Formats: sequence, C-alpha cells, structure tokens
Amino acid sequence: MMQLKCPHCGERDVTEFTYGGDANVRRPPDPLAVNDEDWAAYIYLRDNPRGEHHELWQHSFGCRRWITVHRNTYTHEIAATGLPE
Ligand SMILES: [Zn+2]
Repeated sequence: MMQLKCPHCGERDVTEFTYGGDANVRRPPDPLAVNDEDWAAYIYLRDNPRGEHHELWQHSFGCRRWITVHRNTYTHEIAATGLPE
C-alpha cells in the first residue's frame, strides 16, 4: 500500500489522502484577460504523464491540509513531499 508523508502528521496510508491534481497548473493572474479557449484549457486540459509528476494531495482524513507530492506515476515511488508554494 502506498504511503505518503504529510509534513504535519508524518507517514500515513494513501487512503487518508485525496488527489487534488497537477501541482504545476497555475490559475491565470487576470481571468478576465483570458479568452474562452485558454480558460477551458486551464480548467479541463491536463497532462497524463507516465513517470515523474508533481501533484497536490489533501490529507482529507487527517489534518485536512494540502501537500505536494513528487511521485512517479508508473512505479508509484515517492521522491518527496512538501508544502504548496
Ligand atoms: Zn496531515
């Protein structure tokens, strides 16, 4: 079973966490200046990498805080966890 290290709570089972998406996606600083096509891409389009990936996870059944996880999506190896920027 995959384990994630919450920076606040320590090592926990992955079932305590909820996946929150790609940690590299940034909201446009001025949403009114973005056209519909670019806004739709921000909302809906995501990469689905096989390998290294930075992700957001919420410790839903723990401290409820968001953390970042650097994970290999193929091997499920966790390289690092930390706090979001
Ligand atoms: Zn926690």
